[in-house]
Amino acid sequence: MEAAGGICIIAVGDELLEGRTVDTNSRRLQRALGGHGLAARLVQAVPDRLEDIGQALQRTRPGDLVVLTGGLGSTPDDVTRQGVAAWAGVALVDEPRALELVRARFRNLGREPRPEVLRQGQVPEGMVPVPNPVGSAPGLVGRLRQRWLVLLPGFPAEVEGLLPGVVDELRGRGALPPVSGTLVRRCAQVTELDVVRRCRPLAESHPELVWSWWVTDWGVDVRVRGQDGQDIPAPVPAELDLALGEVVFSRDERDLPQVVQDLMLAQGVTCGTAESCTAGLLGGALTAHGGSSGFFRGGILAYADQVKNRLLGVPADILAAAGAVSEPVVRAMAEGCRQRLDCSLAVAVSGISGPGGGTPDKPVGTTWMAVAAEGAGGARVWSHVYRFPADRRRNRLLTVAAALDSLRRLLEWGPERGPWDVSCAWEVQP
Ligand code: ATP
Ligand code: MG
Repeated sequence: MEAAGGICIIAVGDELLEGRTVDTNSRRLQRALGGHGLAARLVQAVPDRLEDIGQALQRTRPGDLVVLTGGLGSTPDDVTRQGVAAWAGVALVDEPRALELVRARFRNLGREPRPEVLRQGQVPEGMVPVPNPVGSAPGLVGRLRQRWLVLLPGFPAEVEGLLPGVVDELRGRGALPPVSGTLVRRCAQVTELDVVRRCRPLAESHPELVWSWWVTDWGVDVRVRGQDGQDIPAPVPAELDLALGEVVFSRDERDLPQVVQDLMLAQGVTCGTAESCTAGLLGGALTAHGGSSGFFRGGILAYADQVKNRLLGVPADILAAAGAVSEPVVRAMAEGCRQRLDCSLAVAVSGISGPGGGTPDKPVGTTWMAVAAEGAGGARVWSHVYRFPADRRRNRLLTVAAALDSLRRLLEWGPERGPWDVSCAWEVQP
């Protein structure tokens, strides 16, 4: 394994230092290479300047795998390939395969490339092109000054499109370590501390595996990785499932909206939303993936009491007596939504996201949720109260995740159990 050093990522672009663009490419690369057992040692963002690119390269070490993104275009401010050539002390040469890739791209578009565009066929001598399925500038891979170097364009979609080809090229040239086994479990309605606690005995009995945990928009992810090409021992997946229990919503890379969508489509269920505090975020999450029209009917964004009353049919006296954030109101919202949107399942949320609006008996974070489902013997409604612990933005995200995961639980567990028959995080103790 030659890339023994580590991963260095250099994101090139003035826009990254001016706060106009968030450097998502580095994160994407870290994750992609992390899947091959490689952890980043150094991540740098530098402006589109030869000297800065040279200095960033100077901070890498022999043996490193160095990935640069940005500045491969054909405008004068794109100087990454010059910067690499200057640092490596090699010439910038017209590379026939790279030129042909650029020409072929324009042929397919029925256009003639302008002369500047053909600069994208130039490479620091010793590097080879990788076809770019999304844009015109090929990716470049090569070994210079005892490092493996990868040059990628700046557009995130192009980085994404180039990744498989780059990984193949690196693997074919022995620049990546052997593939180690990995195991992913994505969890919802649970805190990170709780997930770590549940994993600890298993993690302690397998010190040869690398364990990591992190918080996501949906909950907490667990990743277990073998080292140096080792597989995950056969009993570990089932043991991990046993340790984590019912908080696991995915055993692959699918996110929570995708899992819920897959369940809805598989079961032929249609769904609607009645949202107060999340004001459409839940509908947005449910329609995040293509194909959502196969199950999602629509949503009623009922922020004010009058809208809850007029559009969802929540009785005014219940609103007045119990308040908008209350069990009878969310139950009426869910059932009103289900009937009006004519769907088999409806979810309703009403909560106090903060920072204001809390009271001693309904502090900030108090959020009622209900799910209504049509059934043979009439509709069934389940409801639950949470007390989310964070600020407005995060409380609303936690509400969306809890609502999605409650739908997931209902679809997986069935109406006899319902979505809330086990305790979950952020529960209000009676
Ligand atoms: P082009 O052929 O378009 O000139 P390029 O390789 O020169 O491609 P850049 O001009 O550096 O790419 O970047 C194109 C766009 O991609 C930028 O406007 C920016 O919005 C986005 N971008 C660049 N770098 C990053 C990054 N590290 N993370 C996320 N987005 C980025
Ligand atoms: Mg740029």
